[in-house]
Amino acid sequence: MPDQCVAGIDIGGTKIALAVADLEGRVLEKTRFPARTGERGPHAIIEEALAEIERMLGKTGAHLAAAGIGCGGPLDRKAGLILSPPNLPGWDEFPVVRIVEERLGVPALLDNDANAAALGEHRHGAGRGYKHLVYITQSTGIGGGVIVRGELVHGVYDGAGEVGHMTVLPDGPECGCGGRGCLEALCSGTALARRARARLAAGEASSLSSLSPNEVTGRAVAEAARAGDPVASRVWDEMIHYLAVGVGNLFNILAPEAVVIGGGVSEAGEQLFGPLRERVRARVRMLPPERINILQASLGGDSALHGAVILGQAARERRLEQTS
Ligand SMILES: [Zn+2]
Repeated sequence: MPDQCVAGIDIGGTKIALAVADLEGRVLEKTRFPARTGERGPHAIIEEALAEIERMLGKTGAHLAAAGIGCGGPLDRKAGLILSPPNLPGWDEFPVVRIVEERLGVPALLDNDANAAALGEHRHGAGRGYKHLVYITQSTGIGGGVIVRGELVHGVYDGAGEVGHMTVLPDGPECGCGGRGCLEALCSGTALARRARARLAAGEASSLSSLSPNEVTGRAVAEAARAGDPVASRVWDEMIHYLAVGVGNLFNILAPEAVVIGGGVSEAGEQLFGPLRERVRARVRMLPPERINILQASLGGDSALHGAVILGQAARERRLEQTS
C-alpha cells in the first residue's frame, strides 16, 4: 500500500469523475456521480466530490499529496478559475483551485478537460511512447490537446489546442463559438444528429424516420449507417470528409507522430478510423502515407480522469521544487 497518493477530479456537464492514484499514476480507487448542475451550484458539487475523495483516501489509507482538476473551458489556469463554461451554468469565475487546496490542504493544478484527456492518452493510453501528439475528443462537442516534446502546448491566453474550432468549411454551418464552418459544427455527435434530422425533415427516406427527433442522436446515425441506411450513410460519410480535412490540416501543420481520437463518436471504431485514415493519407502530400498515424483512444471515458491525476502529480512536483 502506498503511503502517498494524488487525487484526480474530472468535472463535466453531466458527471463528475474522481480517482485516487499512487505517485506513479496507477489508479487505486475511482468513482463518479451525476453532476446535476441544474439543481445545485458549484460549491455543492465540489463539496460532494471532496467528500468522495476523502472516502476513497480512507479506503486506501494513503496520505494525499496533491490534486489535479480537469474541467471544460474557458478557464484561467494560472489563477485557478473556472470561467462559465457553456456546459456548467453558474460556474462564473469559480475559484476551484483555491477551494480544493484549502479544503484538502494540498496543492492543486487546473487545466481544461481536453488537455487533461491528451495528457491521459499520452502517458497511459493510445499515445504512449510518442513525444509529438494531437488528441481530439469527438463527442457532443469537439476539443483537443496538442503535445509537443512531451509537453502540452497552451499558447497565448491558454487558447491552443482548440481543434474543434478550426475552419473546415468556409461560411459553413454556425458553430457554438459564434463562428462558421468549424470542425465541431460539422463533425461532433451533435452535428451528426442535426444533419441527419435536416435530411429527414426534407423528406428523404430512411430507417431513422421511425424515431422521434430526440432519438436521432449521433450514436443512432452511426448505427444506421453501419446497417446501410442511405441517409445515415451519407451524413456519416460527409462527417468523415470534414474530419479528414481537419485532421489533414493538423498533420500538415504539426506532423505529429500520432493523432489520437476519443469521445463518443470515436467508439464507432473502424467504421470511423478505416475511411478516415484512407482520406487523410490521400489529402496529405507532404508526409509519406505510413507516417499518417491515426489511433483510437484506449482509455475509454477515463482519458480526462487519468489526465487529472497527471495534473495532480505535476502539482506535487511543483510544490517539491518550491520547497527544496
Ligand atoms: Zn467554433
